[in-house]
Amino acid sequence: DAYVKAIDQANATFNAYVATTPEKAREMAKASDARLARGDGGALEGIPLGIKDLFATEGVHTQACSHVLDGFEPRYESTVTANLWADGAVMLGKLNMDEFAMGSSNETSYYGPVINPWRRSRTETVVMPTTHQGDGGFVASGGARTARSYDNMQLVPGGSSGGSAAAVSAFLCAGATATDTGGSIRQPAAFTGTVGIKPTYGRVSRWGTVAFASSLDQAGPIARDVRDAAILLKSMASVDAKDTTSVDLPVPDYEAAIGKSVKGMKIGIPKEYRVDGMPEDIEALWQKGIAWLRDAGAEIVDISLPHTKYALPAYYIVAPAEASSNLARYDGVRYGLRVPGKDIIEMYENTRAAGFGREVKRRIMIGTYVLSAGYYDAYYLQAQKVRTLIKRDFELAFAAGVDVILTPATPSAAFGVADEDMAADPVKMYLNDIFTVTVNMAGLPGIAVPAGLDGHGLPLGLQLIGRPFDEETLFQTAHVIE
Ligand code: GLN
Repeated sequence: DAYVKAIDQANATFNAYVATTPEKAREMAKASDARLARGDGGALEGIPLGIKDLFATEGVHTQACSHVLDGFEPRYESTVTANLWADGAVMLGKLNMDEFAMGSSNETSYYGPVINPWRRSRTETVVMPTTHQGDGGFVASGGARTARSYDNMQLVPGGSSGGSAAAVSAFLCAGATATDTGGSIRQPAAFTGTVGIKPTYGRVSRWGTVAFASSLDQAGPIARDVRDAAILLKSMASVDAKDTTSVDLPVPDYEAAIGKSVKGMKIGIPKEYRVDGMPEDIEALWQKGIAWLRDAGAEIVDISLPHTKYALPAYYIVAPAEASSNLARYDGVRYGLRVPGKDIIEMYENTRAAGFGREVKRRIMIGTYVLSAGYYDAYYLQAQKVRTLIKRDFELAFAAGVDVILTPATPSAAFGVADEDMAADPVKMYLNDIFTVTVNMAGLPGIAVPAGLDGHGLPLGLQLIGRPFDEETLFQTAHVIE
């Protein structure tokens, strides 16, 4: 009830939820109470979660925040959400996101932008989204405690899981599901002072999650702290016969890794992540992270990941290529929107022209181009080769004894809504992913953990990258930083 009330009060400010399910939440919570009374509760009994609109939820709004999926309510449940419900979690509703998860600011959503609960502070004081224990429980009041001391410019929460990050940050859910194809869990977590982990490719089933780029997509949680993220990931992860890329490995008790010492651990610092024009605040934060881990007994080693500079261009070939193929299914016949035409071809054209937004169309065009005869070898095949080289860079670093790699999560703090530079040049928006896409290209686990504030009082995150299927070490190390 407290969360439902908080959403009622604050969602108009943040636009984090695109659909709410209060009746369902109450029903699920009652069932939880009954299970607890019988003494057979699961790990997440009664925990209210927000679900990114990318996950299929039976009978509930699932539109990837696209117009083309208007009215789509699946008859099935994604494996991730089914796992969460099986452990007793409660669904509060569906969360806003960039259309088909394409974006870094949550501004490509058909449902409009999400607003970051954090605001720049002119007086350089720390401005947290304020919440207090009201009569009915938590009340999120949306940030403006003393309006005078704030710069009122609205900031983006990052993307594509902007609704997930904003909802967690503003206390509009206890945790959220999210997905990460090139940074979409980690970058919004960094922009909102929350924790987000992209697990190893194959750790979490992709079944029932709307596909963007199938070889890169991976779901994970956004949570308020490292422990919550560990608990949620344990529940989300599973091998699944319905996703042949999910991996049959035991899911460890991630929570048990928290609090373990990092003494003797080798932390790699890749020199290629020191990019031109990186704000001083970010460099300073990175140094602080290094110092914290060194003080905790870890050994810091300089490493080189020489192909880092090719990761972003290669990603923006591979991801659109796969997207152009995955999005072919939105044809006006099988799902959602249908705009009639004089024949079936014209119906396809009309539906896709009206149903997809600008960024999605841009990706479909890039993807179709790089896959077409004559360009396939020059672009797509080259990008796949580069991908192998990026993966090898990491393999060599880990083979040399590095346990975890520490980098900044993003090259900046949250920027303004409708930023003119980014609107004028899509490549500027793509640069947000510079520290995160390498991890998806290599299929590795990566976590973003809040580590401090910039000069305007905005949160900044550090990223830890681990060995395949070694999420435990990420939780262990991230807990030292948080
Ligand atoms: N910003 C990246 C993109 O637009 C990443 C998106 C994602 O991780 N889903 O492709």
